[in-house]
Amino acid sequence: MFDTLDQVIARIGEGQRFLVIGHIRPDGDDISSVASLVMILRKAGKVAEGCIADGDSPFLERLDRTQVIKGVDALRDYAYDTAITVDASELARIGTAAELLEGRAPDITLDHHKSNLGYGKINFCDPAHAATAMIVYEIGEQLIEFDKELAEMLLLGIATDTGFFRYASADERVFAYAARLVRDGADIGRITEAVLEHRTLNEIRLVTAMLGTLQLSADGRLATAYVTAEMIEHAGCTDDDTSGLIGEIRSIAGVEVAVMFIESPKGTVHISLRSKNTVDVSEIALQFNGGGHARAAGCSCAEVKLEDLMKAVTAAAEGAIDAAFPC
Ligand code: 5GP
Ligand code: MN
Repeated sequence: MFDTLDQVIARIGEGQRFLVIGHIRPDGDDISSVASLVMILRKAGKVAEGCIADGDSPFLERLDRTQVIKGVDALRDYAYDTAITVDASELARIGTAAELLEGRAPDITLDHHKSNLGYGKINFCDPAHAATAMIVYEIGEQLIEFDKELAEMLLLGIATDTGFFRYASADERVFAYAARLVRDGADIGRITEAVLEHRTLNEIRLVTAMLGTLQLSADGRLATAYVTAEMIEHAGCTDDDTSGLIGEIRSIAGVEVAVMFIESPKGTVHISLRSKNTVDVSEIALQFNGGGHARAAGCSCAEVKLEDLMKAVTAAAEGAIDAAFPC
C-alpha cells in the first residue's frame, strides 16, 4: 500500500504546478509541512501554493511567512497538475480543501500517522518519523539547498511534534536534523516564543474554567475534562484557542491517559487523547472514527450530546487502561 520516497521524488519531478494541502485544526507540524514543502517546490523552480481549510495559522504570522498558506476560496481558480496532502491520515482530515480535488485522489500523500489509510496515488507514510516535517526535510534535501527561512520553517514542525524535544519520539535523527537546521540559520528561540509564549488572558481564563471540570478515575491513571461552546464563548475564545488544553491535564502526576472534550460549535465535539508511556490512544480514537498516534490521537463527532459522548469515551479509555495495567 505504501510507496518509497524515491517514488515521491520521481513524481514531484514530473509536476510543474503543485497544490499542497494540510489538515483541519492545524498544528505546528502541519503548518510547517505545508509551508516548507511550498517553499522547497518554489525554490526548485516549480509553481506551488499551500492550502489549509481552517485556522488562521497564527504561528505563520509570527514567523513572517503568511504568504505561503491560503484558504480554500483563494485557490478555487488555481490550476495545478500535482496535489499533495501532508500530515493528514485520511481525506476527511483536509476538510473543505477536498473541494479543490474535485473528486480526484491526491497524487501524493506524505504522513507519519500509524492510522494512515493510503488514500493517494502515491503514498509515503512512516510512523518512525517523529514529524511529517522530517519527511519534507528529506525531500527538500534532495532537491534544493536549505536557507535560513526554510530551515526555521522545517524546525517548527520537528519542535512542535516532539513537544519541543521532550517526548520519546525525539530520537537521534530528530536531534541530527535539528542540529543541521540550526546550523542553516533556524532560531529555536523564535519558534519557542511564537508557539509557546503567545497565550492570551482569555486562553488562561478558558484553562481556569476547564480545570473546574477535571476528573480523575481509573486509580488516578485517567484524567478527563471538557469545555462547552458556552465556556469557550464566555472566555472570549475561539476553537483555535483550545489546542493547548489537553497538555494541562496530561501533566498531572500518575496520569497515563488524558482526554479532553471540546464542544465547538454546539453539537460538534472534538476529542483530544494523549498518553504518557503505555496506552495506545489511537486505538481508542479509532473506535470513534478518529485516529492519530500512540501518544496523541483525536476524533470529531457531530450531532452528539456531550454527556453521552463523554460516558462512551471515558468507558473506552478506562477499558484500555484496565487492559494495559491488569491488577
Ligand atoms: P489533537 O488532539 O491535537 O487534535 O490531535 C492529536 C493527533 O490526532 C494529531 O496527530 C491528529 O492528526 C490526530 N487527529 C485528531 N483528530 C483526528 C480525527 O478526527 N481523525 C484522525 N484520523 N486523526 C485525528
Ligand atoms: Mn504531525
